[in-house]
Amino acid sequence: MSISRAIAEQMEGSSWIRRMFEIGIRLRQERGPENVFDYTLGNADVEPPEAVIEALRRVVAEKRPLSHGYMPNAGFPDVRAAIARGLAKRIGAPFAGEDVIMTVGAAGAINTVLKSILDPGDEAIVLKPYFPEYRFYIENHGGRVVEVETDERFQPDVARIAAAMGPRTKAILLNSPNNPTGAVYPADVLRELNAIVREPAMVISDEPYRTLTYDGVETPETLASIERAVVAFSWSKAMAIAGERIGYLAISPRLAEAAPLRNACTFANRILGYVNAPAIWQRVVAQVPDATVDVSQYQAKRDLLCDALNAMGYDAPRPQGSYYMFPKTPIPDDVAFIGLLREEGILAVPGVGFGRGGHMRLSLTLPKSHIERSLPGFERAIRKTEG
Ligand code: PLP
Repeated sequence: MSISRAIAEQMEGSSWIRRMFEIGIRLRQERGPENVFDYTLGNADVEPPEAVIEALRRVVAEKRPLSHGYMPNAGFPDVRAAIARGLAKRIGAPFAGEDVIMTVGAAGAINTVLKSILDPGDEAIVLKPYFPEYRFYIENHGGRVVEVETDERFQPDVARIAAAMGPRTKAILLNSPNNPTGAVYPADVLRELNAIVREPAMVISDEPYRTLTYDGVETPETLASIERAVVAFSWSKAMAIAGERIGYLAISPRLAEAAPLRNACTFANRILGYVNAPAIWQRVVAQVPDATVDVSQYQAKRDLLCDALNAMGYDAPRPQGSYYMFPKTPIPDDVAFIGLLREEGILAVPGVGFGRGGHMRLSLTLPKSHIERSLPGFERAIRKTEG
């Protein structure tokens, strides 16, 4: 057989999200789509902001000569300069176009930097619970995953991270606002981390949800707090354009090895087969970099679901950002509890899929009316676990 053993093993151990997707198809056939409440999806359920669509129209109408061809692998220089100006303003420190590499989403940015820094056997720390793709990204480049637990509020536990670091630690992956927990890491936690991150380690801060925050919470600027950091950003979630695959990697000029890292990432971006980020979308995001979907609708859904679940007796912490919640399951066996929810037509991802059992991830990307209609099912499921 021509399929590699490595990919076969990865697929076998792969994502609960995909498994739930398949279960969802079956359940819809059995019960009718209106009776299935799908909390598993990570795709925004809203259209992009009108300003984004208008910018897209303008960019297409400009008819710049040769605007659909290859370009320097790090992206259009004027686009990189525009993004860098925005970053400099936000972090209050110099940032230049050369510090920005346009990428194929946040996933492309993370793979680009991991390819650039990992030798076989090097270690990358991930904080449990974590986005399951990180394991594959790290293993793609010969790295070894080192899992470290977060604290009871899903915040980084700096002492545990320090204890897990060794001479082969090359990266610490942060994700704030977090998938799956919705936690946002405050600036003082980032500054504590800054004190322990020493060469050759660096922080890779994965921030595709940075603009999706609630109750006036703001995502702190990683590059202002952590010297040895790179940020992977994308407009996938901010603009609800995940299918367009546009993001960037911002490399801190305070890294001692910033210059060789920029060169390595530019090369890696090319040889991973991305070549460069999508041309038209680079121009669009440069015109409206801060356009964001209306987050109040996610906040309203979060409040509805959190309040209802807590009133029923669930332990459902209120997320500060992203569009996920990560409540405890009423019984420790999260896979068994997901089964009880499924009997009610409710699809959720068990926490074990993110490396933390006893929990479930609920995505707020389904319509509010579906959340409302699913509540009796949540109530019946928790009652079944009693007595
Ligand atoms: N990181 C996290 C935590 C995510 O949840 C996702 C997508 O869901 C990604 C990265 C990938 O983002 P992108 O679509 O911009 O590549």
